[in-house]
Amino acid sequence: MLVVGGGITGLAAAYTLVTDPRAKCLGVACTVIESEPRLGGKLRTERIDGCLVEHGPDSFLATKPWAAELCRALGIGDRLIPTLPGRAVYVASRGRLHPLPDGLTFGVPTRLRSLLGTKLLSPLEKLRVAADLVLPRRRDDSDESLGGLLRRRLGDAVVRRVAGPLLGGIYAGDPDQLSARATFPLLPQWEASHRSLVLAALDRRRQAASTPNEPMFLSLAGGVGELVEHLRAALAGVTLLTGRTVVHLARRRHGGQGYHVRLDDGQTLDADAVVLTVPAFAAAALLAPLSRPVVAALRTIPYVSTAAVTLAYDRDRIRHPLDGHGFVVARDEPLAIVACTWLSSKWPHRAPPNRALLRCYLGAAGREAVVDEPDERLVALARADLAKTMGIDAAPRFAVVARWPKAMPQYPPGHLERLQAMEAGLASLPGLALAGAGYRGIGIPDCIRQGTEAARRVLDNLAGRVPQATWL
Ligand SMILES: Cc1cc2nc3c(=O)[nH]c(=O)nc-3n(C[C@H](O)[C@H](O)[C@H](O)COP(=O)(O)OP(=O)(O)OC[C@H]3O[C@@H](n4cnc5c(N)ncnc54)[C@H](O)[C@@H]3O)c2cc1C
Repeated sequence: MLVVGGGITGLAAAYTLVTDPRAKCLGVACTVIESEPRLGGKLRTERIDGCLVEHGPDSFLATKPWAAELCRALGIGDRLIPTLPGRAVYVASRGRLHPLPDGLTFGVPTRLRSLLGTKLLSPLEKLRVAADLVLPRRRDDSDESLGGLLRRRLGDAVVRRVAGPLLGGIYAGDPDQLSARATFPLLPQWEASHRSLVLAALDRRRQAASTPNEPMFLSLAGGVGELVEHLRAALAGVTLLTGRTVVHLARRRHGGQGYHVRLDDGQTLDADAVVLTVPAFAAAALLAPLSRPVVAALRTIPYVSTAAVTLAYDRDRIRHPLDGHGFVVARDEPLAIVACTWLSSKWPHRAPPNRALLRCYLGAAGREAVVDEPDERLVALARADLAKTMGIDAAPRFAVVARWPKAMPQYPPGHLERLQAMEAGLASLPGLALAGAGYRGIGIPDCIRQGTEAARRVLDNLAGRVPQATWL
Protein backbone atom coordinates (compact mmCIF):
# COMPACT_ATOMS: atom_id res chain seq x y z
CA MET A 1 0.00 0.00 0.00
CA LEU A 2 1.45 3.36 -1.00
CA VAL A 3 0.65 6.73 0.50
CA VAL A 4 1.91 9.52 -1.75
CA GLY A 5 2.50 12.76 0.22
CA GLY A 6 3.66 12.94 3.83
CA GLY A 7 1.61 15.96 4.97
CA ILE A 8 -0.95 15.58 7.76
CA THR A 9 -3.42 13.86 5.39
CA GLY A 10 -0.87 11.26 4.28
CA LEU A 11 0.35 10.63 7.81
CA ALA A 12 -3.22 10.17 9.05
CA ALA A 13 -3.85 7.72 6.18
CA ALA A 14 -0.68 5.75 7.00
CA TYR A 15 -1.57 5.73 10.70
CA THR A 16 -4.98 4.23 9.86
CA LEU A 17 -3.37 1.67 7.55
CA VAL A 18 -1.22 0.35 10.39
CA THR A 19 -3.71 0.64 13.26
CA ASP A 20 -6.92 -0.60 11.59
CA PRO A 21 -7.43 -4.21 12.76
CA ARG A 22 -8.09 -5.34 9.18
CA ALA A 23 -4.61 -4.25 8.06
CA LYS A 24 -2.95 -7.11 9.96
CA CYS A 25 -5.38 -9.72 8.60
CA LEU A 26 -4.77 -8.43 5.07
CA GLY A 27 -0.99 -8.36 5.62
CA VAL A 28 -0.81 -4.74 4.52
CA ALA A 29 2.69 -3.27 4.16
CA CYS A 30 2.67 0.50 3.94
CA THR A 31 5.13 2.96 2.35
CA VAL A 32 4.86 6.77 2.55
CA ILE A 33 6.62 8.76 -0.17
CA GLU A 34 7.27 12.46 0.50
CA SER A 35 9.10 14.92 -1.78
CA GLU A 36 10.50 17.06 1.01
CA PRO A 37 13.29 15.88 3.31
CA ARG A 38 10.93 16.17 6.29
CA LEU A 39 7.43 14.86 7.00
CA GLY A 40 4.46 17.04 7.96
CA GLY A 41 3.88 19.12 4.81
CA LYS A 42 2.46 22.46 5.94
CA LEU A 43 2.88 21.55 9.64
CA ARG A 44 6.26 22.82 10.73
CA THR A 45 7.28 24.11 14.16
CA GLU A 46 10.64 25.56 15.09
CA ARG A 47 12.05 26.82 18.40
CA ILE A 48 14.02 30.05 18.08
CA ASP A 49 15.42 32.03 21.00
CA GLY A 50 12.86 30.58 23.44
CA CYS A 51 9.92 31.25 21.07
CA LEU A 52 7.76 28.66 19.33
CA VAL A 53 7.60 29.63 15.66
CA GLU A 54 4.97 28.00 13.44
CA HIS A 55 5.76 28.15 9.73
CA GLY A 56 2.29 26.96 8.70
CA PRO A 57 -0.79 26.28 10.86
CA ASP A 58 -0.64 27.17 14.55
CA SER A 59 -3.88 25.54 15.72
CA PHE A 60 -7.00 23.69 14.69
CA LEU A 61 -10.75 24.07 15.14
CA ALA A 62 -11.95 22.32 18.30
CA THR A 63 -15.47 21.89 16.93
CA LYS A 64 -14.17 19.42 14.33
CA PRO A 65 -13.07 16.56 16.58
CA TRP A 66 -10.70 14.54 14.38
CA ALA A 67 -7.42 16.27 15.28
CA ALA A 68 -8.01 16.17 19.04
CA GLU A 69 -9.14 12.53 18.75
CA LEU A 70 -5.94 11.63 16.91
CA CYS A 71 -3.86 13.41 19.57
CA ARG A 72 -5.60 11.37 22.26
CA ALA A 73 -5.07 8.13 20.32
CA LEU A 74 -1.37 8.99 20.09
CA GLY A 75 -1.19 9.56 23.86
CA ILE A 76 -0.71 13.33 23.67
CA GLY A 77 -4.22 14.38 24.71
CA ASP A 78 -2.72 16.02 27.80
CA ARG A 79 -0.61 18.26 25.53
CA LEU A 80 -3.70 19.88 23.95
CA ILE A 81 -4.05 23.55 24.90
CA PRO A 82 -6.93 25.97 24.25
CA THR A 83 -6.47 29.60 23.22
CA LEU A 84 -6.25 32.05 26.12
CA PRO A 85 -9.87 33.02 26.88
CA GLY A 86 -11.83 36.21 26.50
CA ARG A 87 -9.63 37.97 23.98
CA ALA A 88 -10.96 40.17 21.18
CA VAL A 89 -10.22 39.96 17.47
CA TYR A 90 -9.82 43.27 15.67
CA VAL A 91 -10.35 44.50 12.13
CA ALA A 92 -7.98 47.00 10.52
CA SER A 93 -10.29 49.40 8.75
CA ARG A 94 -10.02 53.09 7.80
CA GLY A 95 -6.68 53.52 9.51
CA ARG A 96 -7.39 51.94 12.88
CA LEU A 97 -8.14 48.69 14.70
CA HIS A 98 -11.80 48.11 15.60
CA PRO A 99 -12.87 45.20 17.82
CA LEU A 100 -15.15 42.79 15.97
CA PRO A 101 -18.70 43.00 17.35
CA ASP A 102 -19.37 40.42 20.11
CA GLY A 103 -21.55 37.44 19.32
CA LEU A 104 -20.56 36.95 15.67
CA THR A 105 -21.46 33.45 14.53
CA PHE A 106 -19.84 32.61 11.18
CA GLY A 107 -19.56 36.34 10.63
CA VAL A 108 -23.29 36.88 11.29
CA PRO A 109 -24.06 39.43 14.04
CA THR A 110 -26.31 38.14 16.86
CA ARG A 111 -25.99 40.83 19.54
CA LEU A 112 -27.97 43.97 18.79
CA ARG A 113 -26.18 46.21 21.28
CA SER A 114 -22.77 45.17 20.00
CA LEU A 115 -23.87 45.67 16.38
CA LEU A 116 -25.25 49.12 17.18
CA GLY A 117 -22.06 50.07 19.04
CA THR A 118 -19.49 49.03 16.43
CA LYS A 119 -17.74 51.74 14.43
CA LEU A 120 -16.94 49.22 11.71
CA LEU A 121 -20.31 49.87 10.05
CA SER A 122 -22.15 53.11 9.38
CA PRO A 123 -25.79 53.52 10.60
CA LEU A 124 -27.03 52.80 7.07
CA GLU A 125 -24.84 49.69 6.83
CA LYS A 126 -26.25 48.48 10.17
CA LEU A 127 -29.75 49.01 8.85
CA ARG A 128 -28.78 46.94 5.83
CA VAL A 129 -27.75 44.08 8.17
CA ALA A 130 -31.18 44.29 9.81
CA ALA A 131 -32.83 43.90 6.38
CA ASP A 132 -31.83 40.23 6.61
CA LEU A 133 -34.71 39.79 9.06
CA VAL A 134 -37.28 40.60 6.39
CA LEU A 135 -35.65 39.76 3.06
CA PRO A 136 -37.18 36.76 1.26
CA ARG A 137 -35.39 33.47 0.84
CA ARG A 138 -33.34 32.89 -2.35
CA ARG A 139 -35.29 30.85 -4.90
CA ASP A 140 -32.36 29.61 -6.98
CA ASP A 141 -30.90 26.35 -5.68
CA SER A 142 -27.51 26.58 -7.44
CA ASP A 143 -24.28 26.96 -5.46
CA GLU A 144 -23.56 30.60 -4.72
CA SER A 145 -20.32 32.35 -3.74
CA LEU A 146 -19.76 33.03 -0.05
CA GLY A 147 -19.46 36.76 -0.81
CA GLY A 148 -22.64 36.67 -2.91
CA LEU A 149 -24.67 35.04 -0.16
CA LEU A 150 -23.40 37.33 2.61
CA ARG A 151 -23.83 40.45 0.46
CA ARG A 152 -27.37 39.49 -0.52
CA ARG A 153 -28.40 38.88 3.09
CA LEU A 154 -26.30 41.33 5.14
CA GLY A 155 -24.91 43.92 2.72
CA ASP A 156 -21.60 44.69 1.04
CA ALA A 157 -20.01 46.33 4.11
CA VAL A 158 -20.22 43.04 6.03
CA VAL A 159 -18.43 41.28 3.17
CA ARG A 160 -15.68 43.91 3.02
CA ARG A 161 -15.12 44.56 6.71
CA VAL A 162 -16.50 41.73 8.86
CA ALA A 163 -17.37 38.30 7.51
CA GLY A 164 -15.31 38.58 4.32
CA PRO A 165 -11.88 39.01 5.96
CA LEU A 166 -12.79 36.63 8.76
CA LEU A 167 -14.18 33.73 6.74
CA GLY A 168 -12.38 34.30 3.42
CA GLY A 169 -9.14 34.69 5.39
CA ILE A 170 -9.24 31.05 6.48
CA TYR A 171 -8.81 30.12 2.81
CA ALA A 172 -6.58 33.10 1.95
CA GLY A 173 -9.40 33.50 -0.53
CA ASP A 174 -11.68 36.04 -2.15
CA PRO A 175 -15.18 35.43 -0.71
CA ASP A 176 -16.64 36.19 -4.16
CA GLN A 177 -14.68 33.28 -5.64
CA LEU A 178 -15.39 30.70 -2.90
CA SER A 179 -18.33 28.30 -2.88
CA ALA A 180 -20.62 28.96 0.10
CA ARG A 181 -21.68 25.30 0.20
CA ALA A 182 -18.13 23.93 0.15
CA THR A 183 -16.58 26.40 2.60
CA PHE A 184 -19.32 27.29 5.12
CA PRO A 185 -22.22 24.92 4.37
CA LEU A 186 -24.11 26.08 7.46
CA LEU A 187 -24.75 29.52 5.93
CA PRO A 188 -26.80 28.33 2.91
CA GLN A 189 -28.44 25.74 5.19
CA TRP A 190 -29.43 28.51 7.59
CA GLU A 191 -31.07 30.47 4.80
CA ALA A 192 -32.93 27.35 3.68
CA SER A 193 -34.14 26.51 7.19
CA HIS A 194 -34.69 29.97 8.75
CA ARG A 195 -34.70 32.36 5.76
CA SER A 196 -32.82 34.93 7.89
CA LEU A 197 -29.13 34.29 8.73
CA VAL A 198 -29.43 36.45 11.85
CA LEU A 199 -32.39 34.44 13.18
CA ALA A 200 -30.61 31.16 12.43
CA ALA A 201 -27.41 32.36 14.13
CA LEU A 202 -29.47 33.45 17.17
CA ASP A 203 -31.05 30.00 17.28
CA ARG A 204 -27.63 28.38 17.18
CA ARG A 205 -26.39 30.65 19.96
CA ARG A 206 -29.36 29.75 22.12
CA GLN A 207 -28.64 26.05 21.62
CA ALA A 208 -24.93 26.55 22.31
CA ALA A 209 -25.75 28.37 25.55
CA SER A 210 -27.00 25.09 27.03
CA THR A 211 -23.69 23.31 26.33
CA PRO A 212 -20.46 23.98 28.27
CA ASN A 213 -18.22 26.77 26.97
CA GLU A 214 -15.77 24.85 24.78
CA PRO A 215 -12.71 26.59 23.30
CA MET A 216 -12.95 27.34 19.60
CA PHE A 217 -9.31 26.50 18.78
CA LEU A 218 -6.79 24.01 20.14
CA SER A 219 -3.09 23.54 19.67
CA LEU A 220 -0.35 21.45 21.26
CA ALA A 221 1.95 22.76 23.98
CA GLY A 222 4.94 22.15 21.73
CA GLY A 223 3.22 23.45 18.58
CA VAL A 224 1.52 21.47 15.82
CA GLY A 225 4.88 19.90 14.91
CA GLU A 226 4.41 17.73 18.00
CA LEU A 227 1.60 15.92 16.21
CA VAL A 228 3.92 15.13 13.29
CA GLU A 229 6.65 13.83 15.65
CA HIS A 230 4.21 11.51 17.42
CA LEU A 231 2.68 10.28 14.18
CA ARG A 232 6.14 9.51 12.88
CA ALA A 233 6.93 7.55 16.04
CA ALA A 234 3.64 5.63 15.71
CA LEU A 235 4.53 4.63 12.12
CA ALA A 236 7.36 2.36 13.27
CA GLY A 237 6.43 -0.44 10.84
CA VAL A 238 5.96 1.87 7.86
CA THR A 239 8.65 2.55 5.24
CA LEU A 240 9.12 6.32 5.08
CA LEU A 241 10.77 7.52 1.87
CA THR A 242 11.46 11.23 2.30
CA GLY A 243 13.16 13.45 -0.25
CA ARG A 244 11.69 11.27 -3.03
CA THR A 245 9.03 12.33 -5.51
CA VAL A 246 6.54 10.14 -7.35
CA VAL A 247 6.89 11.09 -11.02
CA HIS A 248 4.78 8.42 -12.71
CA LEU A 249 1.72 6.37 -11.81
CA ALA A 250 0.27 3.56 -13.96
CA ARG A 251 -2.00 0.51 -13.67
CA ARG A 252 -0.10 -2.72 -13.25
CA ARG A 253 0.48 -4.41 -16.58
CA HIS A 254 -1.17 -7.63 -17.89
CA GLY A 255 -4.56 -6.90 -16.31
CA GLY A 256 -3.15 -7.23 -12.78
CA GLN A 257 -4.85 -5.38 -9.91
CA GLY A 258 -3.00 -2.47 -8.42
CA TYR A 259 -0.55 0.21 -9.46
CA HIS A 260 3.00 0.77 -10.57
CA VAL A 261 4.87 3.85 -9.39
CA ARG A 262 8.16 5.42 -10.48
CA LEU A 263 10.16 7.79 -8.28
CA ASP A 264 12.43 10.63 -9.35
CA ASP A 265 15.55 8.55 -8.63
CA GLY A 266 14.34 5.82 -11.01
CA GLN A 267 13.19 3.38 -8.31
CA THR A 268 9.92 1.60 -9.11
CA LEU A 269 7.37 0.27 -6.65
CA ASP A 270 4.27 -1.91 -7.06
CA ALA A 271 1.25 -1.67 -4.78
CA ASP A 272 -2.27 -3.09 -4.50
CA ALA A 273 -3.58 0.31 -3.53
CA VAL A 274 -2.49 3.96 -3.59
CA VAL A 275 -3.71 6.86 -1.46
CA LEU A 276 -2.80 10.13 -3.19
CA THR A 277 -2.61 12.97 -0.65
CA VAL A 278 -0.62 15.43 -2.75
CA PRO A 279 -2.16 18.79 -3.78
CA ALA A 280 -4.84 18.50 -6.49
CA PHE A 281 -2.55 19.92 -9.23
CA ALA A 282 0.13 17.30 -8.39
CA ALA A 283 -2.54 14.56 -8.36
CA ALA A 284 -3.74 15.80 -11.79
CA ALA A 285 -0.21 15.43 -13.21
CA LEU A 286 0.08 11.85 -11.90
CA LEU A 287 -3.40 10.81 -13.03
CA ALA A 288 -3.13 12.35 -16.52
CA PRO A 289 -2.51 8.96 -18.21
CA LEU A 290 -5.24 7.23 -16.17
CA SER A 291 -8.47 9.23 -16.17
CA ARG A 292 -9.45 12.27 -18.18
CA PRO A 293 -12.63 13.11 -16.19
CA VAL A 294 -10.80 12.92 -12.86
CA VAL A 295 -8.00 15.13 -14.15
CA ALA A 296 -10.49 17.62 -15.59
CA ALA A 297 -12.14 17.95 -12.16
CA LEU A 298 -8.80 18.21 -10.34
CA ARG A 299 -7.70 21.05 -12.63
CA THR A 300 -10.65 23.19 -11.56
CA ILE A 301 -9.20 23.54 -8.04
CA PRO A 302 -6.99 26.65 -7.94
CA TYR A 303 -4.27 27.14 -5.31
CA VAL A 304 -3.20 30.46 -3.83
CA SER A 305 0.28 31.42 -2.58
CA THR A 306 0.82 32.96 0.84
CA ALA A 307 3.67 33.92 3.15
CA ALA A 308 3.88 34.30 6.90
CA VAL A 309 6.32 36.66 8.64
CA THR A 310 6.87 35.94 12.35
CA LEU A 311 8.39 38.80 14.35
CA ALA A 312 9.69 38.57 17.92
CA TYR A 313 9.95 41.82 19.92
CA ASP A 314 11.05 42.83 23.38
CA ARG A 315 7.68 43.22 25.08
CA ASP A 316 8.66 46.53 26.71
CA ARG A 317 9.39 48.09 23.29
CA ILE A 318 5.71 47.69 22.27
CA ARG A 319 3.24 50.20 23.71
CA HIS A 320 0.18 48.40 22.32
CA PRO A 321 -1.61 46.37 25.04
CA LEU A 322 -1.88 43.27 22.78
CA ASP A 323 -5.26 42.66 24.42
CA GLY A 324 -6.58 40.23 21.84
CA HIS A 325 -5.77 37.42 19.46
CA GLY A 326 -4.85 39.71 16.58
CA PHE A 327 -6.54 41.37 13.64
CA VAL A 328 -7.77 40.77 10.12
CA VAL A 329 -7.61 43.45 7.44
CA ALA A 330 -10.71 44.87 5.72
CA ARG A 331 -10.68 44.17 2.00
CA ASP A 332 -10.45 47.81 0.97
CA GLU A 333 -7.72 48.75 3.48
CA PRO A 334 -4.44 49.86 1.82
CA LEU A 335 -2.14 47.42 3.68
CA ALA A 336 0.16 44.68 2.34
CA ILE A 337 -0.63 42.25 5.17
CA VAL A 338 -4.02 40.52 5.27
CA ALA A 339 -3.99 39.50 8.94
CA CYS A 340 -1.80 39.47 12.04
CA THR A 341 -1.95 36.96 14.92
CA TRP A 342 -0.66 38.03 18.33
CA LEU A 343 0.74 34.59 19.07
CA SER A 344 2.05 35.38 22.55
CA SER A 345 -1.39 36.72 23.58
CA LYS A 346 -3.35 33.94 21.88
CA TRP A 347 -1.45 30.96 23.30
CA PRO A 348 0.23 30.29 26.61
CA HIS A 349 4.01 29.71 26.54
CA ARG A 350 4.64 30.61 22.89
CA ALA A 351 7.25 33.14 23.96
CA PRO A 352 9.04 34.10 27.20
CA PRO A 353 7.10 36.72 29.24
CA ASN A 354 9.50 39.49 28.19
CA ARG A 355 8.83 38.88 24.46
CA ALA A 356 5.91 39.55 22.13
CA LEU A 357 5.53 37.17 19.19
CA LEU A 358 3.44 38.39 16.23
CA ARG A 359 2.77 36.74 12.89
CA CYS A 360 1.72 38.65 9.77
CA TYR A 361 0.20 37.00 6.71
CA LEU A 362 0.81 38.26 3.19
CA GLY A 363 -0.57 37.11 -0.13
CA ALA A 364 -4.07 35.81 -0.80
CA ALA A 365 -6.33 35.41 -3.81
CA GLY A 366 -5.71 38.39 -6.11
CA ARG A 367 -2.71 39.58 -4.02
CA GLU A 368 -0.21 36.80 -4.64
CA ALA A 369 2.59 38.72 -6.41
CA VAL A 370 3.98 39.90 -3.06
CA VAL A 371 4.92 36.31 -2.12
CA ASP A 372 7.71 36.40 -4.73
CA GLU A 373 9.39 39.41 -3.08
CA PRO A 374 12.68 38.76 -1.22
CA ASP A 375 12.56 37.99 2.51
CA GLU A 376 13.84 41.45 3.55
CA ARG A 377 11.06 43.10 1.55
CA LEU A 378 8.36 40.90 3.17
CA VAL A 379 9.73 41.75 6.62
CA ALA A 380 9.83 45.46 5.72
CA LEU A 381 6.21 45.36 4.48
CA ALA A 382 5.06 43.58 7.65
CA ARG A 383 6.91 46.06 9.87
CA ALA A 384 5.53 49.06 7.99
CA ASP A 385 1.96 47.75 8.41
CA LEU A 386 2.48 47.03 12.13
CA ALA A 387 3.70 50.61 12.52
CA LYS A 388 0.55 51.93 10.78
CA THR A 389 -1.93 49.70 12.64
CA MET A 390 -0.36 49.14 16.07
CA GLY A 391 2.23 51.90 16.32
CA ILE A 392 5.12 49.42 16.56
CA ASP A 393 8.31 51.14 15.47
CA ALA A 394 10.81 48.96 17.39
CA ALA A 395 13.14 46.62 15.54
CA PRO A 396 12.28 42.94 16.05
CA ARG A 397 14.82 40.70 17.78
CA PHE A 398 14.33 38.25 14.95
CA ALA A 399 12.07 37.75 11.93
CA VAL A 400 11.27 34.46 10.18
CA VAL A 401 9.73 34.28 6.71
CA ALA A 402 7.77 31.18 5.69
CA ARG A 403 6.83 31.14 2.02
CA TRP A 404 4.02 28.87 0.85
CA PRO A 405 3.70 28.84 -2.96
CA LYS A 406 0.45 27.33 -4.28
CA ALA A 407 -0.47 26.23 -0.78
CA MET A 408 -4.10 27.16 -0.12
CA PRO A 409 -6.70 25.37 -2.26
CA GLN A 410 -9.74 27.42 -3.22
CA TYR A 411 -13.18 25.86 -3.57
CA PRO A 412 -14.94 27.80 -6.34
CA PRO A 413 -18.76 27.68 -6.68
CA GLY A 414 -19.73 24.24 -8.00
CA HIS A 415 -16.78 22.57 -6.21
CA LEU A 416 -18.90 19.86 -4.56
CA GLU A 417 -20.62 18.97 -7.84
CA ARG A 418 -17.22 18.62 -9.53
CA LEU A 419 -16.02 16.36 -6.71
CA GLN A 420 -19.02 14.15 -7.44
CA ALA A 421 -17.99 13.96 -11.10
CA MET A 422 -14.51 13.02 -9.92
CA GLU A 423 -15.96 10.31 -7.70
CA ALA A 424 -17.68 8.82 -10.71
CA GLY A 425 -14.39 8.90 -12.62
CA LEU A 426 -12.49 7.25 -9.76
CA ALA A 427 -14.83 4.27 -9.86
CA SER A 428 -12.79 3.01 -12.84
CA LEU A 429 -9.60 3.07 -10.72
CA PRO A 430 -10.19 0.52 -7.93
CA GLY A 431 -7.79 0.74 -5.01
CA LEU A 432 -6.96 4.37 -5.70
CA ALA A 433 -8.14 7.08 -3.31
CA LEU A 434 -7.66 10.84 -3.22
CA ALA A 435 -7.59 12.84 0.00
CA GLY A 436 -6.34 16.14 1.30
CA ALA A 437 -6.87 19.84 1.66
CA GLY A 438 -7.91 20.30 -1.98
CA TYR A 439 -11.19 18.43 -1.59
CA ARG A 440 -13.41 18.47 1.47
CA GLY A 441 -11.94 20.86 4.02
CA ILE A 442 -8.54 22.55 4.26
CA GLY A 443 -8.14 22.63 8.05
CA ILE A 444 -6.05 20.06 9.93
CA PRO A 445 -9.08 18.19 11.38
CA ASP A 446 -10.70 17.79 7.96
CA CYS A 447 -7.39 16.64 6.44
CA ILE A 448 -7.04 14.00 9.18
CA ARG A 449 -10.63 12.86 8.61
CA GLN A 450 -10.13 12.61 4.85
CA GLY A 451 -6.83 10.72 5.20
CA THR A 452 -8.42 8.29 7.66
CA GLU A 453 -11.50 7.73 5.50
CA ALA A 454 -9.42 7.25 2.34
CA ALA A 455 -7.30 4.59 4.08
CA ARG A 456 -10.43 2.82 5.33
CA ARG A 457 -11.95 2.83 1.84
CA VAL A 458 -8.80 1.33 0.44
CA LEU A 459 -8.86 -1.36 3.14
CA ASP A 460 -12.55 -2.02 2.36
CA ASN A 461 -11.57 -2.35 -1.24
CA LEU A 462 -8.75 -4.77 -0.53
CA ALA A 463 -11.01 -6.81 1.71
CA GLY A 464 -13.32 -7.07 -1.29
CA ARG A 465 -16.24 -5.52 0.57
CA VAL A 466 -16.76 -2.45 -1.55
CA PRO A 467 -15.17 -3.29 -4.87
CA GLN A 468 -16.05 -0.05 -6.64
CA ALA A 469 -15.95 2.62 -3.95
CA THR A 470 -12.62 4.36 -4.05
CA TRP A 471 -13.63 7.88 -3.16
CA LEU A 472 -13.44 9.21 0.38
C1 LIG B 1 0.45 29.58 6.27
C2 LIG B 1 -0.65 28.57 6.53
C3 LIG B 1 -1.38 28.64 7.72
C4 LIG B 1 -2.37 27.71 7.99
N1 LIG B 1 -3.04 27.78 9.18
C5 LIG B 1 -3.91 26.80 9.51
C6 LIG B 1 -4.43 26.73 10.85
O1 LIG B 1 -4.09 27.55 11.73
N2 LIG B 1 -5.28 25.71 11.15
C7 LIG B 1 -5.61 24.74 10.23
O2 LIG B 1 -6.38 23.83 10.58
N3 LIG B 1 -5.12 24.77 8.96
C8 LIG B 1 -4.27 25.77 8.59
N4 LIG B 1 -3.70 25.77 7.34
C9 LIG B 1 -4.12 24.74 6.36
C10 LIG B 1 -3.48 23.38 6.63
O3 LIG B 1 -2.22 23.55 7.23
C11 LIG B 1 -3.31 22.59 5.34
O4 LIG B 1 -4.49 22.63 4.57
C12 LIG B 1 -2.98 21.13 5.62
O5 LIG B 1 -1.84 21.05 6.45
C13 LIG B 1 -2.75 20.40 4.29
O6 LIG B 1 -2.36 19.08 4.56
P1 LIG B 1 -2.20 18.02 3.36
O7 LIG B 1 -1.54 16.83 3.93
O8 LIG B 1 -3.51 17.83 2.68
O9 LIG B 1 -1.26 18.75 2.31
P2 LIG B 1 0.28 19.12 2.40
O10 LIG B 1 0.66 19.54 3.76
O11 LIG B 1 0.51 20.06 1.27
O12 LIG B 1 1.01 17.73 2.10
C14 LIG B 1 1.14 17.21 0.81
C15 LIG B 1 2.55 16.67 0.68
O13 LIG B 1 2.70 16.03 -0.59
C16 LIG B 1 4.04 16.20 -0.99
N5 LIG B 1 4.10 15.94 -2.43
C17 LIG B 1 3.61 16.70 -3.44
N6 LIG B 1 3.81 16.09 -4.63
C18 LIG B 1 4.46 14.91 -4.37
C19 LIG B 1 4.91 13.83 -5.17
N7 LIG B 1 4.73 13.84 -6.50
N8 LIG B 1 5.54 12.80 -4.57
C20 LIG B 1 5.70 12.77 -3.22
N9 LIG B 1 5.27 13.77 -2.39
C21 LIG B 1 4.64 14.82 -2.96
C22 LIG B 1 4.36 17.63 -0.59
O14 LIG B 1 5.74 17.83 -0.46
C23 LIG B 1 3.60 17.76 0.74
O15 LIG B 1 4.44 17.54 1.86
C24 LIG B 1 -2.68 26.69 7.04
C25 LIG B 1 -1.96 26.62 5.85
C26 LIG B 1 -0.94 27.53 5.59
C27 LIG B 1 -0.16 27.43 4.32
